[in-house]
Amino acid sequence: MSFTLASPVEALPGLGRTRAKVLRERGISTVGDLLWYLPHRYEDRSNPTPLGSLTTPDVTVTVVGEITDLRERRARTRALHLVEALVQDSTGALPVVWFNQPYLAKTLRRGVRVWLHGPVRLAKSGWGLQMVSPEWEVEEDEEPLHLGRVVPVYRRLDTVSGRQLRTLMARTLDQVAIGSVALDALVPELPPFAAALAQVHFPETTDTATLELLARRLSPWHRRLALEELAALALVLEKSRRRRAALQAPVCAVGEKERELARAMLPFQLTRAQRQAVAEIVADLQKPTPMARLLQGDVGAGKTVVAALAALLVLAAGWQVAFMAPTEILAQQHGATLSRLFAPTPFSVLTLTGSTGASERAQILARLAAGEPVLVVGTHALLEEAVQMPRLGLAIIDEQHRFGTSQRQRLVEKGQAPHLLVMTATPIPRSLALSLYGDLEVSVLKELPPGRQPVRTVLRTRQALPKLLAFVRQEVAAGGQVFWVFPVIEESELLDLKALTAHAQELAKELGDVPVGTVHGRMGAHEREAVMAAFAAGKLKVLFATTVIEVGVDVPAASLMVIENPERFGLAQLHQLRGRVGRGSRRAFCVLLVGDNLSEEARKRLEFFAATTDGFAVAEEDFRSRGPGEFTGLRQWGRPEFRVASLFLHQRELELARAVVRQAAENGQLEVLERGLVLPPTLGEEVPPG
Ligand code: ADP
Ligand code: MG
Repeated sequence: MSFTLASPVEALPGLGRTRAKVLRERGISTVGDLLWYLPHRYEDRSNPTPLGSLTTPDVTVTVVGEITDLRERRARTRALHLVEALVQDSTGALPVVWFNQPYLAKTLRRGVRVWLHGPVRLAKSGWGLQMVSPEWEVEEDEEPLHLGRVVPVYRRLDTVSGRQLRTLMARTLDQVAIGSVALDALVPELPPFAAALAQVHFPETTDTATLELLARRLSPWHRRLALEELAALALVLEKSRRRRAALQAPVCAVGEKERELARAMLPFQLTRAQRQAVAEIVADLQKPTPMARLLQGDVGAGKTVVAALAALLVLAAGWQVAFMAPTEILAQQHGATLSRLFAPTPFSVLTLTGSTGASERAQILARLAAGEPVLVVGTHALLEEAVQMPRLGLAIIDEQHRFGTSQRQRLVEKGQAPHLLVMTATPIPRSLALSLYGDLEVSVLKELPPGRQPVRTVLRTRQALPKLLAFVRQEVAAGGQVFWVFPVIEESELLDLKALTAHAQELAKELGDVPVGTVHGRMGAHEREAVMAAFAAGKLKVLFATTVIEVGVDVPAASLMVIENPERFGLAQLHQLRGRVGRGSRRAFCVLLVGDNLSEEARKRLEFFAATTDGFAVAEEDFRSRGPGEFTGLRQWGRPEFRVASLFLHQRELELARAVVRQAAENGQLEVLERGLVLPPTLGEEVPPG
């Protein structure tokens, strides 16, 4: 029987119903999904240590020898079953013990040669050294899997152990029919796909330099798999670019009337960077194809007013504009800001969120459905079926990484072929932004409005807590407000949340009569918004929070940001958090309250962060310091994570992939290429926001 990458996992012989179910629950439903589940590291177990040379305990070694003694017994004191063996080679012998694996007494036999890999310890009873619960493999004629070679190490999938996965992978690779793969012929300088897949799972090398490359995901085989993923991404982007280029969008002219309105609207002079971005947007809006532009600008760079000018042009041309933000409070804030800006113009600004009253909502929906040229600001509420905008000419999405791709799409589809402006404060290096967002043009605001005071960032240890609390009281007395952030990253961790609440209460007690509040992701949205609103209004002075506050809330009086255990956050995320303060004219501080066991490397990272205020420099460093196996940050950008590819490690493959796709597009061969790609499992799937 044979199967392909597209076959269901149930097609694998000998897998069993239970294990198939576990795999499915972990998102592995096809043979391809399974084979894209790659080892996260390798162990060189090709070189056995002579038994006679073992003299020191507490090392992990690979040995090979003959079993000369084997017995099982029960420990007297506890319900413990032991299998004890003696292994011998030409240089010496070593006792081995396994606990509670009675089947071993039946599987292993006196006289067989075994490979063992595990820790050597001082024997508890008796004397000398003993190997404890090693991995084992009987030496046979077949290729060894678990020992006697460079061995792949897999993360266990619930009840399916790493060792079982190894066996499963080997059997699957042996039998799968992969067929022809388009990129094999198009990029002959890299190994063919099937060989690359086999080598990434079971490398046939023991060469040190190659092993080093394998560990860093830079082996030719890793690069070949990365190419496959990057080509799939490039293809998706190219297709969406071409789809858009074929559409007819509203053409928005700029005349004297528009210039006059713009002058009336602006409460300040635009920065150079803002003028540049506006110019790029205006050029797009005058073309008959829909704009698709990413406006990237550090927190506080002034993206809102740029979006407002874009909206003005579209409204003046007689079209509607939708402006979507990820939270209620942010939508309300934008609604208020934009109402102020548009007051001198003939255009109305409406706000539609989950908490808009029924009659007001009905009115807004009616005006929108009638095609009236208004600017509507709102939350996800804008995406509802009931919201009809037949003359939608421009969709603006703020903090776009908080929305999934399909949500972006749903807003756009309210109109015929509206222009699209997405905004984000998450800076990524421009070259990467371009490749990642090949379907979007990019404008960057690389300059803050004048008069901004940079946030002063310092590292402190827990010993500084009393002083810090005194400083908090002093800031509050002087009219300032304080964010105090806890590193509850996985908010489902109930234990962590309990700790947060207890810790917050303790701090609150220390702060006496200073009004404080707490927000975290486990609270109901309404309750959370209410606390945030009270803080924004200045009724609460200190806000204890998890990273739910990360996104663009504007609280001008906020002047101090305390971040506990900052080593547990990425630098880009720290920068986002830091951007919550220093938005008014008060000088602002960010205190990084580091843990006691800070590693040297973590300290260096944080010191770099403290010394720079440039979000782009922070992002570059963040990218650099991410090791293999960590997130590429793609998820944050609304795209699925890659299995192998890293936009930082595999820039060459990224270029190759783009070139291949571009070439195929020019030759009218995109569909052919698409059919010939081995699509990695997650690409093209929707990724939940956040
Ligand atoms: P972000 O890019 O983070 O969304 P905002 O649009 O909220 O930034 O702007 C931050 C603050 O800076 C706002 O209070 C805004 O009014 C102000 N601002 C924006 N542009 C300028 C400018 N050119 N001169 C002075 N203040 C500005
Ligand atoms: Mg903003």
